[in-house]
Amino acid sequence: MPASAVRTRYAPSPTGEPHVGNIRTALFAWLTARAGNGAFVLRIEDTDQRRKVEGAVEMQMEALRWLGVDWDEGPDVGGPYGPYVQSQRLDRYREAADRLIESGHAYRCYCSTERLSKLRKAQGQSGRAGYDRRCRDRAPEAGTIAPVVRFKMPVEGETAVHDIVRGVVTFKNDLLDDHVILKSDGFPTYHLAHLVDDRLMEISHAIRAEEWLPSLPLHARMYEAFGWDPPQFAHVPNILAPDRSKLSKRHGATSTLSYREQGYVPDAMLNFLALLGWSLDDRTDLIPREDLKRQFSLGRVSRSPAVFQTDKLDWMNGQYVKAMDPADLARALLQFWRLHPPGEIDGLPDTSLLTRIAPLISERLKSLRDAAPLTAFFFKEEVAYDAADLVQKGMDAESTKSALEASLAALELLPEFDSQSIEQALRVLAVDLGLKVGQLLGVLRVAVTGQRIAPPLFETIEILGRDRSLAAVRAASARL
Ligand code: GLU
Repeated sequence: MPASAVRTRYAPSPTGEPHVGNIRTALFAWLTARAGNGAFVLRIEDTDQRRKVEGAVEMQMEALRWLGVDWDEGPDVGGPYGPYVQSQRLDRYREAADRLIESGHAYRCYCSTERLSKLRKAQGQSGRAGYDRRCRDRAPEAGTIAPVVRFKMPVEGETAVHDIVRGVVTFKNDLLDDHVILKSDGFPTYHLAHLVDDRLMEISHAIRAEEWLPSLPLHARMYEAFGWDPPQFAHVPNILAPDRSKLSKRHGATSTLSYREQGYVPDAMLNFLALLGWSLDDRTDLIPREDLKRQFSLGRVSRSPAVFQTDKLDWMNGQYVKAMDPADLARALLQFWRLHPPGEIDGLPDTSLLTRIAPLISERLKSLRDAAPLTAFFFKEEVAYDAADLVQKGMDAESTKSALEASLAALELLPEFDSQSIEQALRVLAVDLGLKVGQLLGVLRVAVTGQRIAPPLFETIEILGRDRSLAAVRAASARL
């Protein structure tokens, strides 16, 4: 591997649903890898066994797959640095901790949990927080307590670290703690595990959430202690709700998969997430996937928090849906309905029929969820409606019935049953009947679709075909 190869990773802890904030960070890491022709690694950070949630790893993968964010190495596909699950790599962290102890950069701490909690209480009054370093320079205490391993932070001076997003960030060492890097159960903490893995997996850019910035001096000092070159760091900004508070369930969905359930299409979601904290040129909103993959750069990630605006996502989704070609939209709808069967439709419609319907509705869809109510009549033998709905403003039952009968005659006679011929015939007929075009179409719309609001009528009648359309008109007339 050339020394300059770009290798990034997404390293979720399987503690719950894939939060949109985490997936946005994954996206930045993926785009960095793709823009640099590098590799993107998926690594499961499950060293906090108490917080592990069943099924969380699968949900993370599902969210990434939905968005088309593919990984080159990971727990499922393997890779040269495996296993890509931290609980299966414990020996490596223990060895690394031993190395730091031997070189005098870390120490075993035998303080009991009672002592530590007393310390915390006392500190609660004094203001200084953190471990008092009692075991730092003492000979190990023999006893029954299984020790933790703590990293020795310098107690004076400063630690300056370069971050791609923030430039050089300087931390005062006397404010920093001697953090635990290996717990008494032999599991590493995040600080040790991610660092050992980033090194072993040759990660070139550690791209992670801003919440890790305060830990950066610790990590920088640990790299130094190991004698390893650190990766480049990029701490990406938080995502806030429009009220500028942290995005949480109270503002709506936070799980990436719930956006799939709400009918957003992956390309729109991907584009939207990419703009949460990054911009191409401060102007362009619609940036297709392939352009993102070419043009993303960490240098344009903003320091300030990004605001999650659902109305922008809605708009973007509408734009992407509108631009989809009919076969793609049909495929997207079928996939969506397979996952979330709509109440309005029994079973899954035929692909070629749906492909013909797609252009009629694509302009009207904000979300894939809007499609079922709009199109369900296409897939039903008979449509249900209230007969009174047939009667348009300015008409009565009698004139409505004759309009239906006349339409029947006109449509039956058409040599070609295409939307243009249908339109022409019905426009002429409206004049003959002394009706406004809107009145006649209103009657037929309800007769054929059962709805007052429906896709464009002439195309709808064409797609339904002569037999079904005429049967519907006949049935409507019989109800008056
Ligand atoms: N497991 C960490 C988390 O989920 C990953 C942070 C990182 O990317 O290094 O927050």
